[in-house]
Amino acid sequence: MNTGFFHHQIITGPIRSRRLGLSLGVNLLPVSHKICNYDCLYCECGWNTVNTAETDALPTVKDIAEALSAKLQILKEENVKPESVTFSGNGEPTLHPDFKAVVSEVRRIVETVYPDAPPALTVLSNATRIGRDDVRDALGLCTRIVLKLDAGTPDTYARINRLQTGFRLGAYEERLRPETFYESLLAQLRAFPYPFIVQTLLFRGEYEGRMLDNTDGAEWEAYKRRLAAIRPYGIMLYGLDRETPARKLQKLSKPELEARAEALRMAGFKNVQAYF
Ligand code: SF4
Repeated sequence: MNTGFFHHQIITGPIRSRRLGLSLGVNLLPVSHKICNYDCLYCECGWNTVNTAETDALPTVKDIAEALSAKLQILKEENVKPESVTFSGNGEPTLHPDFKAVVSEVRRIVETVYPDAPPALTVLSNATRIGRDDVRDALGLCTRIVLKLDAGTPDTYARINRLQTGFRLGAYEERLRPETFYESLLAQLRAFPYPFIVQTLLFRGEYEGRMLDNTDGAEWEAYKRRLAAIRPYGIMLYGLDRETPARKLQKLSKPELEARAEALRMAGFKNVQAYF
């Protein structure tokens, strides 16, 4: 049974986010299940249940624009202003085939409703598609780009994020393999032309009979070297929040999480935040 937490509408919230303040979510994926080319051990949506989908399962640019306009109108009448309009939801937002058109339209609507001080336009992405021109251009329209990096070594990356070779959405098929994609991912992060924040979920635990720990030892040292190479302008460390599909994962305590953030600051990284 898959017991994930789902966004049941295109526009969700606003909710008080640990990291983004009052955040209005824009879900570009189906409202009933997750679509992602990763299947992370900790994904709050649960394990992937589909590995092949057609694009008619996704909301159109028009659907998204209408839902957002209606929601912002209601919020304005209630005198509520989100601090962030956030592309997140039931999977990886950059997989949407019209991602660039969606971001462009959402930005236009947000700037029309709040011409003087629009909320941040945030995207939470797993970074697998930043090598594509259209995705990079779309991300460049956002004001806060948050990209995932959970591991300092290819082995831990493969075990945590579980890139789904063979995943298909419409005409797009994931042909990359986790063992070889890790170095490409880092090269794309190094070459990414816009300022971005790295988000990292820190945890330890056991999966398939092997221990897993991205918080300590050689793995943590390798992670720091990767960060130094990709030079994000900020780092968001966070801990487990909801039930995880892999059952034997352990949440770091608040002091442990804060100690990792402090270790990064001491190593010279700027804008490091820990969210418990
Ligand atoms: S990238 Fe995000 S949506 Fe995809 S499996 Fe990982 S946590 Fe879930």
